[in-house]
Amino acid sequence: MHGRIAGAARAVRAYDDPVKRAAVWAKIPAVDLANRAMIAMTRPMTDASHCSASCPTSVEGTRATKRRPEQPGQGGAAQTGTFRYCLLKELLRWFKHDFFKWVNEAPCDECGGPTSRLGGAQPTEEERRFGAGITEVFRCKGKDGRPPCQGVTRFPRINDPAKLLETRRGR
Ligand SMILES: [Zn+2]
Repeated sequence: MHGRIAGAARAVRAYDDPVKRAAVWAKIPAVDLANRAMIAMTRPMTDASHCSASCPTSVEGTRATKRRPEQPGQGGAAQTGTFRYCLLKELLRWFKHDFFKWVNEAPCDECGGPTSRLGGAQPTEEERRFGAGITEVFRCKGKDGRPPCQGVTRFPRINDPAKLLETRRGR
């Protein structure tokens, strides 16, 4: 139990590194997401396209059903709350659908074709350095009806946030 708590604490601290935080900020298309959030604010909450997902009817105590953002000085705090809410939803949408790729079977490193899982393997020293406790191994099944290329693909279950910014894939 103590080991699991210590491991979780280590994982959380890995996200509290200023260098890694800067790397995260460099990846986020903040202006684009802010623009999308502003557009989302102009849609009524009942619009299915609002924030690219359903929204609650109340954000920080106010119904945000207006078609246009209020001007400065007109319920600014509520508008700020609505904007932050829409921005957060846009950030989550981008992270889940645009930035990261969900991987069940890792595509073949050699030909990009589908694979089947062979099993687990011990991580290499480098994979372990990025927090992998296990590495999944996949065998090529052949792309576009062609025979398998004999490629064997390793999929280390990386936990290092900075490395995940490079690989952009996980499960
Ligand atoms: Zn292949």
